[in-house]
Amino acid sequence: MAHEVTFIPGDGTGPELAEATRRVLEATGVEFEWDEQPAGEDVYADEGNPFPDRTLGSIKRTKVGIKGPTTTPVGSGFRSINVQLRKELDLYACIRPCKAYPGVRTRFPETDIVIVRENTEDLYAGIEFENGSDEVKKLAKFLGEELDSPVRDDAGISIKPISVFGSERIVEAAFDYAEKNGRGKVTAAHKANIMKFSDGLFLEVARKVAEKHPEVEFEDRIIDNLCNQLVSRPEEYDVIVLPNLYGDIVSDLGAGMIGGLGLAPGGNIGTEAAMFEATHGSAPKYKGQNKVNPTALMLSGVLMLRHVEEIPAADKMEAAIAEVIRKGEKVTYDLKPTRDDPSAVGTSEFADAVIEEMNS
Ligand code: NAD
Repeated sequence: MAHEVTFIPGDGTGPELAEATRRVLEATGVEFEWDEQPAGEDVYADEGNPFPDRTLGSIKRTKVGIKGPTTTPVGSGFRSINVQLRKELDLYACIRPCKAYPGVRTRFPETDIVIVRENTEDLYAGIEFENGSDEVKKLAKFLGEELDSPVRDDAGISIKPISVFGSERIVEAAFDYAEKNGRGKVTAAHKANIMKFSDGLFLEVARKVAEKHPEVEFEDRIIDNLCNQLVSRPEEYDVIVLPNLYGDIVSDLGAGMIGGLGLAPGGNIGTEAAMFEATHGSAPKYKGQNKVNPTALMLSGVLMLRHVEEIPAADKMEAAIAEVIRKGEKVTYDLKPTRDDPSAVGTSEFADAVIEEMNS
């Protein structure tokens, strides 16, 4: 039976990347029924809404989507569609595998880690109060007078909530990923030595969850130490589960370690739906040039295939992408020794090469 999937091309370079990815997904032999829906700058220009109800409705119905990147205007305009999506669908787990494929130029060829980032809590919860506002004055008074915890008069305040519920489900998601993907270890990263009641809670919950999964090794690291160790001994790490902010930062560190943003895939998973998309943005300066690397979105497609339990197709597609990268001939500019290498191919030709590899 065909898998019904919401297909969101996005904007900027998104439509080119999404089309290349769709062609490769179809070439695996798995059948899809695509429900194509708009999001981003282009539909905002046409309809005054960057994230129409019909797009959200489609994902709620199909429960699985693949999305090209979408631009978030700086300062004015509309709110990030990605943030809206995560909130509307409670996509609480962001899974970002960072694997260095042979042929990629990287100082960290041993890297094969999976970042599992909590998506809904922490300093990203949006509980913020501006310096000088009435809210800060009230909070400062309360903190100083009632809790004996004064803050300076000219402070801005961001609040960091981390709950038992949120920590439990993200650590469970990390163990679930490890078990389903044959990975042997989960590392929880935190700063529990300093933030005892937020990160400390996260660590305590992580330890309890780990007890329920004795077949997977568990350890924890303080976040600064983890960063140090990731760039000195990346081969010692496997699945890493982190609260939101550390997860955001370590995801980009991981993308850098495997050769760049063009290679870093992602999936946002919730109880009701899952949305697969690259870590990178819409790279608008390359829009319409058939230039940027579709690997990150294609590998997000591989994650999607695994999510819908099309494992042999996922393995075949990942192996073909890896082989095209290893050969290093029909690859985009970012995978060549120099950025102006005349032998670089375009987005669409990279997809052709992957399809050819799958059929060989
Ligand atoms: P970006 O990731 O779009 O691009 C930064 C640079 O990285 C590019 O100029 C390019 O040199 C390189 N790059 C990115 N993707 C590449 C690829 N596939 N192949 C080769 N090189 C690639 O980051 P930005 O310029 O900071 O953001 C552009 C827009 O995208 C912003 O509006 C931002 O808010 C948005 N954004 C969207 C998402 C998303 O939709 N999930 C994620 C991040 C940023």
